[in-house]
Amino acid sequence: MTESMLTLIPGPTPVHPRILEALAIPTTSHQDPTFTTRFRSTLDSLRRIVRTASAQPFVVAGSGTLAMEMALANLLAPGQRLLVISQGFFGDRWTEIASAFGIRAEVLTAEWGRAVAPERLRRCLEQGRFDAVAMTHVDTSTGTVAPVADYCALLASGDETILLDGVCATGGIDERFDEWGVDLLITGAQKALGAPPGVAILLASERAMERRRSRTAVPLYYADLLRWLPVMQDPSRYFSTPPVNEIVALDAALHLVLEEGLEARCSRHVRLGRAVRSGFVECGIEIFGDPFSRADTMTVACHPDGVDDRAFREDLARRHVFVAGAIGPLAGRAFRVGHMGNIGRDEIARLFAALDGALAASGRPVTQGRAARAALAALDDPSSP
Ligand code: PMP
Repeated sequence: MTESMLTLIPGPTPVHPRILEALAIPTTSHQDPTFTTRFRSTLDSLRRIVRTASAQPFVVAGSGTLAMEMALANLLAPGQRLLVISQGFFGDRWTEIASAFGIRAEVLTAEWGRAVAPERLRRCLEQGRFDAVAMTHVDTSTGTVAPVADYCALLASGDETILLDGVCATGGIDERFDEWGVDLLITGAQKALGAPPGVAILLASERAMERRRSRTAVPLYYADLLRWLPVMQDPSRYFSTPPVNEIVALDAALHLVLEEGLEARCSRHVRLGRAVRSGFVECGIEIFGDPFSRADTMTVACHPDGVDDRAFREDLARRHVFVAGAIGPLAGRAFRVGHMGNIGRDEIARLFAALDGALAASGRPVTQGRAARAALAALDDPSSP
């Protein structure tokens, strides 16, 4: 039998067989009660996963970028002021979308690989008035996790709408919608939730929904939250055909998350992060970014001088492990590994076995198996949370 490809990019992540089975269930009517029951359970599970009692979930065909666009275009009018806290490419995407809708964005950026210090947000809020603040929990370009709870605490007494991009975090890193006072969380199915790509996910606070209702002329139709609201309150209603199979698969993925338990799942991701970093250290591969801001869901690994990035990744792919290239200023100088969702010991062992092979083939000194042993020891370490 040929070995299947192990996809360890920062999304889509490997899809568990139970989720694939759900995806393959014969397509039903979107109004068939077996489907509408699952749609309802998907929405309930999303609330539980981001720890909210009252936020309104939305699941529509699309991707994380559509969810970002829906967040901005529903809640902010042209000319309103948005503060973007950006840790890289996906933080900057908030700014690009804002400019497409005539929203005035200002950006607080950090050097790539570092998080914006909360103190800088505090100073910025003292100096200017903003209608909304957008932040990214994990920026997939840099592998940087942002102190979003601290940002939210600074915004707690304010009137700014808080927008949080959880695409590379939700379902792997703790997110507390109600406690942090988030207004609109957007996320994707294909990352730490472990589902196949194809849906945009949003959860909106009552304040966010009021802000949408207070706007009259919103130049949106498919992306209008108010057109979707009746469906999300009663999935037997119709607005536009939902992606039936993808929603059933997402429901199965969310069941897996809740079966594992949120605390156990987040602590597994902490250990996955440590495992991958320990393995890289053993391989002599430098990890990009500030050691205090490294995400548990993915890692950006630096190539030593002289390594041809594409050839290296192609060699790994021949060894049945697919990792991602880096983007922006890191393109060609680093590669990105996703370690989120429903992966465990086998995937970590395969990653480092393939890396041993590729590093040895490129003439680097390698003690076969050492990195995998270090990684698995970190993964199994009971002293980790
Ligand atoms: N935000 C973050 C943090 C992401 O990692 C991504 C995708 N990699 C997006 C937004 C955009 O999501 P999508 O590719 O599903 O449109």
